Amino acid sequence: MAVETPDSLTSFISSVVLPSTAPNDIQGLVSKIEKKCAPELFSRVRFTIEDFLRELHIALIVVDFQNDFVNGSLSILNGPARQDPQAVIPSLNKLISLDGFKMVIYTMDWHPPNHISFYDHAKDSDRVLSAQDQKRHLKAFDVVRFESPPTEQVLYPSHCVKNTWGAALHDDVKIVENAFFVEKGTDVLVDSYSGFANNDGLKKSKLESMLRSERINGVITCGLAYDICVMYTARDAAKLGFLTTVIKDCSSGLSDEKIEEANQIFAENNIAVNTESEAELIMTSKKIPLEWISAVISQKLGIK
Ligand SMILES: [Zn+2]
Repeated sequence: MAVETPDSLTSFISSVVLPSTAPNDIQGLVSKIEKKCAPELFSRVRFTIEDFLRELHIALIVVDFQNDFVNGSLSILNGPARQDPQAVIPSLNKLISLDGFKMVIYTMDWHPPNHISFYDHAKDSDRVLSAQDQKRHLKAFDVVRFESPPTEQVLYPSHCVKNTWGAALHDDVKIVENAFFVEKGTDVLVDSYSGFANNDGLKKSKLESMLRSERINGVITCGLAYDICVMYTARDAAKLGFLTTVIKDCSSGLSDEKIEEANQIFAENNIAVNTESEAELIMTSKKIPLEWISAVISQKLGIK
C-alpha cells in the first residue's frame, strides 16, 4: 500500500470536494492535519473520509416557505435587504426535484393567534413585559424584555397563525410525495427560530429524531429567512453533528447586517454555503463541500 503523504492527501481531498473549492483552502486544511496528526495517521484521515462518503444519507430541510414570509404580513421582501422570496422559487423547486434525498422536510412556523412574538399581544395578561417596555408604544421589530416568561423577544406583526392562509406553504413551492412536515413556534409563550428546538432550548421538535431514524448524516437546508430561521436551523443541525450546507440561492434574508452575521456563524461551525448547482453536484456526483471534510475529521479524529 502506498504511503499517504501531504501531497497524496491533498490530491485525494481535491478529488472528492466540489470543483469550486479554492486550492488554497484545501492546502490550509492539509497543513492543519499535518500539524495535528502524526504522518503514520494520514491514511486514517483518508479512510475516515472514504467511510463517510460510502454512508452518505442526505436530507433536505426547506425552512418556513410560507405565504406570510413570501407575500403576506411578514414578507421578507419588505426587509431592509429587499430580497424577494418569489425570485428564488424556481431554483428552490429545482433543488427539491433532485434525486437522492433520503427525506425532504418542510418546516412551518405554526403560531397560536396570541403568540408571544406578535407586537399587538405583547401586553396580554398571560405575560408580563418589563416595566420599561410596558410604557412604550410597541411596533414590529422592537426588541423587548418580558419578566414573565423571562425572555428577550423581537416583536413581529401577527404571522403564520396556524391553519390560516398565511401559515400555508406558498402554492408555487413543490411538495414532494412522502414529504415530512415539522411545525414550530406552536407554544403561546415561547418562540422558535430553529426547526430543531424552541428558542429557550427546553423543548425539542421531532426533527432530530426523524433524521436519526433514517440515519441521516448530511443536511442541505434553505428557505426563509436566511439570517433567522435558516441560520438557527443550520446551526443546530451542525451542533447535533449533521454535515450541513445552506443553499443561498434558494433562500432570502431580511437584513444585510444579519446575513453577514449568519455567514460568520456558518464559517465558525463548518457549515458550507453553496448554490443550487453545487447541491446538484453533491447529490449526483458525491462531490462534497470542504467544510464537510473539516467537520468529519473534527468529529471522528478530533482534528480541529
Ligand atoms: Zn414566527
